[in-house]
Amino acid sequence: MTVRKQVELSLHATGFCTHPEWVTMRGGSLRSIQIPAGFARIVHEDYGTILFDTGYAARFFDAASSFPYSIYRRVTPVVHDPGEGAAAQLKRLYGLDAGEVRLIILSHFHADHVAGLRDFPNARFMYLPQAFEAVRGLRGLAAVRSGFLPDLMPEDFGFRSSPVPPSARVPLPEGWPFPDGGYDLLGDGSLIGVDVSGHAAGQMGLLLSTADHDYFLCADASWSSQAIRENRPPHPMAGLIMPSRRQYQQTFTRLRLLAERFPGLRIIPSHCGEVWRTYIQRNEQL
Ligand SMILES: [Zn+2]
Repeated sequence: MTVRKQVELSLHATGFCTHPEWVTMRGGSLRSIQIPAGFARIVHEDYGTILFDTGYAARFFDAASSFPYSIYRRVTPVVHDPGEGAAAQLKRLYGLDAGEVRLIILSHFHADHVAGLRDFPNARFMYLPQAFEAVRGLRGLAAVRSGFLPDLMPEDFGFRSSPVPPSARVPLPEGWPFPDGGYDLLGDGSLIGVDVSGHAAGQMGLLLSTADHDYFLCADASWSSQAIRENRPPHPMAGLIMPSRRQYQQTFTRLRLLAERFPGLRIIPSHCGEVWRTYIQRNEQL
């Protein structure tokens, strides 16, 4: 396997939102598709349970109840059952109390990734500093335009934050088409953060290895595995919500190269229906 220290991984969905397929992928149909909101549970020998994002949680509906935040709900209608929140799933599936989670790695600050943060009172938060800089202090329409709902953030977020320092930078494995390298998040080579900006500023993906496979959790750098395989980036209209379409395209191209060069690497977008059907609903062992 690629990284220096293996971890365990399981993938989960916290409900879904709906979108016409053609927005998410070039040449997609007019029909509305269900877009699951995923999070990953990583079990590390020394750090215990670590989360990569949290997906939706029930408080999303409160945070998006009043104008202008309600625009977010209208643009992406969300279906979420309280039992699907990350904290509830960890308790139900693994008997784990939310208070035991000590670290949450954040890909970016869109509401469908951070809605569960307040459920984890003892977690530290790790993310690329430019991701938080892009949303810090935003309220009202400016926040909505950045996919950010301020009420979702824990009051002591700053206090519990450990932004990824520049000193964590490491080269990526030979052949990886990300010339700036990655970040050794825990210093032991187990979790390598990779800048996949474009969909959001400072968006971070995660390279890791389990005993059987290498994974690249690429967050929202693509909305589906199919789009990467078939080179079908989202419709230009989806670019309206992206801070940089040019950067999105560059990252997307790198994902395509990655898939070509490393056919054994499992690239996992946060909102991929195929990942949902293959690994999550079938409960496939990773
Ligand atoms: Zn998302």
